[in-house]
Amino acid sequence: MRSGFDGTESIELGKIRWCRRPSSDLSLRSGSTSSPALYRFVGSTPLVGLLSYLSVILIHEVGHLVAAQRLGCRVESIKLYALFGTTDFETPWTRLDHCVIAWSGVLAQAVVAIPLVAWVSVFGFTDIGVVNAILAILGYFSLGIAVFNLLPIKPLDGATAWGLLPALLARKRIL
Ligand SMILES: [Zn+2]
Repeated sequence: MRSGFDGTESIELGKIRWCRRPSSDLSLRSGSTSSPALYRFVGSTPLVGLLSYLSVILIHEVGHLVAAQRLGCRVESIKLYALFGTTDFETPWTRLDHCVIAWSGVLAQAVVAIPLVAWVSVFGFTDIGVVNAILAILGYFSLGIAVFNLLPIKPLDGATAWGLLPALLARKRIL
């Protein structure tokens, strides 16, 4: 234990230093980046949950963006709303391209979600609330949303995505 110039008493354990101010304000400090407010911010499970939820929507839309650009469609914008997102892109060259772009959103979600679900299935959830929130939302919740989004109902992606097989068969007939 030592006293600082500002009257702070502290105990150093490796790089972590527990400090006690004369006002008995106990806080965790690590190295020079000490900030109890930052710990509260990062450690807020509801906030991390919200960011994870928005990440699910963003991952989905980025999936559309990557596929659209690879198929030569200029992407105008990605918009994120509270419950969904949209990717505005030029009309695809073919019906098949449009179907591929529709699938790419849920596939992007699956690329992130399946490893996380597999991890939790094998190792279980952790003792850390924020980590569990990320695993649950980017894993299980995202997969659920992906399946829901594949329902063949407008304006969901499923309304376009399931046209993939007929479009593939039609292309085969042309070739
Ligand atoms: Zn979509």
